[in-house]
Amino acid sequence: MSFPDEILIAGSGPAGLTTALSLHEAGFKVRVFEAVPEIKPLGVGLNLLPHAVRELDELGLLAPLAAAGVACHELAYFTKRGERIWGEPRGLAAGYQWPQISLYRGALQFTLLNAVKTRIGADRLHLGRQLTGFDATPGHGVRARFLNRATGHEETADGRLLIACDGIHSAARKIFYPTEGPPRWNGAVMWRGVAECDPVLDGHTMIMAGHTRVKFVCYPISSQATRPGAQQLNFIAELRYDTTELSEREDWSRAGNLADFLPQFESFRFPWLDAPAMIRAAPAVWVYPMVDRDPLPRWTHGPVTLLGDAAHAMYPIGSNGASQGILDARVLTGCLRHHRADPEAGLTRYDAIRRPATTQIILSNRQQGPEACMQLVEDRAPNGFQKLDDVVSRAELDAIAAKYKQLAGFAIQELNTRPSLASPTA
Ligand SMILES: Cc1cc2nc3c(=O)[nH]c(=O)nc-3n(C[C@H](O)[C@H](O)[C@H](O)COP(=O)(O)OP(=O)(O)OC[C@H]3O[C@@H](n4cnc5c(N)ncnc54)[C@H](O)[C@@H]3O)c2cc1C
Repeated sequence: MSFPDEILIAGSGPAGLTTALSLHEAGFKVRVFEAVPEIKPLGVGLNLLPHAVRELDELGLLAPLAAAGVACHELAYFTKRGERIWGEPRGLAAGYQWPQISLYRGALQFTLLNAVKTRIGADRLHLGRQLTGFDATPGHGVRARFLNRATGHEETADGRLLIACDGIHSAARKIFYPTEGPPRWNGAVMWRGVAECDPVLDGHTMIMAGHTRVKFVCYPISSQATRPGAQQLNFIAELRYDTTELSEREDWSRAGNLADFLPQFESFRFPWLDAPAMIRAAPAVWVYPMVDRDPLPRWTHGPVTLLGDAAHAMYPIGSNGASQGILDARVLTGCLRHHRADPEAGLTRYDAIRRPATTQIILSNRQQGPEACMQLVEDRAPNGFQKLDDVVSRAELDAIAAKYKQLAGFAIQELNTRPSLASPTA
């Protein structure tokens, strides 16, 4: 049997769409299959770190993304009393050649989606097609099976490769690891929302206040507001419980109740932030448990591989979830460019580069990643402090931040000077 020289991509989240654009630009023929019949701008805010922005810039998307979001200039950590622990410049302010952009997940997805339709063609995006299985013929190709959600019938598509970008409940991952079970929960629950408010601090700062058990995060994601000078602020109010048994499958679109978390944040009222007012100003809140999946021993199996959350769902700590999927897409492109004659060798090389890198981030995020400084101060000075230096040294704080940047691939000098991730990679 002969297979068409096409790359099939399952899933049109940020990772799947970036993969499609990147491979198309490198001269590969792609088709995208998405389970939902209609793509809606779901989700609230997320961050694109400079390493991911660089890749999207190389795909010609910096301008629309920068216009849709807000450039983050600083990340600052505070105690539950609003005392400042640590702040570091981000994006251009830190010396990167690319900004860090905070934006609606929907703005990112639709920017990518519009580019896919314009550059690749709407006819190569198949909505309402849910990947259910595949038959791989190593060395030759793959026949993917989809449920057509409109007709209820099975359809098939043949290609040289199948890239499964089908998210945390990936069907392909389940086929490779049938006994893995549901995602792992660490007991933390996040209530997320967007509120139109006056800017917090300079209007370009991502703030985190509290510690592992009670944490409030907010950052601006859009400057389009009904009131002059106001911004759309994305917030996450997070509480940690002692149980880790999830009673129902997590869902990004599940509505939350203020009564379940607002009382614990009533004290987060500082001269520079009124968290309870921000929460009350949000038209809706969504509740999502902090789940991830264990690192895998292998992503690539012959002509099929995993990418994005399907490969490495991680806690949304350190702003890395979407960014890492974008890096995957570009490294995959570089590997396939080099291994054009043997694309499965390209998938194997992609696995060898990206799997260890993302494994480290999954594990670091389980230890709070760069947010560890907040718990450190809470442990040492739960009742506050006069001078931060008496509690934690600047060198300790520096070390936590630098270690995470190195691990997650956005050390400044390295990012500014390395070749494109999509360059042919042996
Ligand atoms: C509805 C939704 C809302 C989210 N909101 C936020 C948010 O507010 N903040 C945040 O930080 N992160 C959010 N995320 C997660 C975030 O988008 C991902 O962590 C990250 O961007 C990685 O992207 P991804 O493309 O790998 O996965 P995802 O963004 O999860 O995209 C996976 C895509 O695959 C599709 N799919 C699933 N199963 C199949 C199948 N069997 N066949 C074909 N297609 C399939 C899904 O419909 C989805 O479009 C959200 C995810 C979803 C799905």
